[in-house]
Amino acid sequence: MDLFEYQARDLFEKHGVPVLAGAVATTADEAQAAAEKIGGKVVVKAQVKVGGRGKAGGVKLAENSKDAREKADAILGMDIKGHIVKKVMIAQAAPIESEYYLAILLDRSNRTFLVMASVAGGMDIEQVAHETPEKLVKVPVNSNDGLSKSDALKIVNDAKFPADIADQVAETLLLIWKVFTTEDATLVEINPLVKTSDGRIIALDGKVTLDDNASFRHPDHEALIDESAADPLEALAKAKDLNYVKLNGQVGIIGNGAGLVMSTLDVVAYAGEKFGGVKPANFLDIGGGASAQVMADGLSIILGDPDVKSVFVNVFGGITACDAVANGIVQALEMLGSKATKPIVVRLDGNNVLEGRRILNEAKHPLVQQLDTMDGAASRAAELAAK
Ligand code: GDP
Ligand code: MN
Repeated sequence: MDLFEYQARDLFEKHGVPVLAGAVATTADEAQAAAEKIGGKVVVKAQVKVGGRGKAGGVKLAENSKDAREKADAILGMDIKGHIVKKVMIAQAAPIESEYYLAILLDRSNRTFLVMASVAGGMDIEQVAHETPEKLVKVPVNSNDGLSKSDALKIVNDAKFPADIADQVAETLLLIWKVFTTEDATLVEINPLVKTSDGRIIALDGKVTLDDNASFRHPDHEALIDESAADPLEALAKAKDLNYVKLNGQVGIIGNGAGLVMSTLDVVAYAGEKFGGVKPANFLDIGGGASAQVMADGLSIILGDPDVKSVFVNVFGGITACDAVANGIVQALEMLGSKATKPIVVRLDGNNVLEGRRILNEAKHPLVQQLDTMDGAASRAAELAAK
């Protein structure tokens, strides 16, 4: 999960990383009140999970709280690279002397952590990394050894930070290492880390990505989830522990096993070309143990999608045999009753397939039709969706 800047700022503050006063606002009124409270000059910053806000006009200096209100009014609702601004952060303004860059990330390709540091921070760091890579120092950190004070000082010196601030920058690096490890992050970035005209080192912009695989260790991270961004169907599926991803098409897909579902998406998209470009409406893997309840949960989410015109249930019986899946479908349709309204094409194969097909044939549900092959079923589902 990527955090908003204001959330990263709060996390920094919790771990002692030097930050300035800041507050989040969703309206111009709130922005003015926040600016009033902070006092003096403030910076109004668009809160969107995308970089380059400054260049897009999403970061503006305000002279006072009334000015902050006007700036917030202009920034709220702005479209930054396809992200609509719904919140702004009001931050105490800093007299900037120099802008630096510090980051720690999970370097997957080298199976290690990586510290990056540069004295050429600010809005053009991508260009610096590309054109003058020698200005961006990269040092791997072994997870068993961690990062010591002397490691941090060496990195800071290698990156040619001025001697008078080397110690403060090294301290900040150790603090973001603490954020990185104790919060189970895969990225902690400060850009810019600034030196103010009175010699202080401050994190002015933070980017943090938390590792969702570690969320069970951090119950407090749940509060950081941006509910407004979640697709309502995906949120519903998540609450039911289903592996569901909303797509743009018209054929609802249910399958068992991620690989089978992925190939089902391809086969449906291919078949859909014959029917005016019909496409899969979602990814949904109900996994190995397809109980009636799981099937009912899956079907009800897919049937609740207004874009869905037909459903394709594609199951290869393994440990959970086809008869259990067929019973699951029958019971699921009973549970759903009149909520089931769209044609459902079922293709069963694998363990105990004949019994599975017999159960579905015998149930004679008016919405269900069976086909023996994946291609045939995909084609039928696409045809029904095109009607
Ligand atoms: P980004 O463009 O999305 O990375 O947004 P940043 O938060 O990094 O802000 C972009 C630029 O705005 C920074 O590099 C600074 O030059 C400037 N900026 C941000 N906060 C302040 C501030 O408090 N005072 C001043 N003078 N400039 C700021
Ligand atoms: Mn930045």
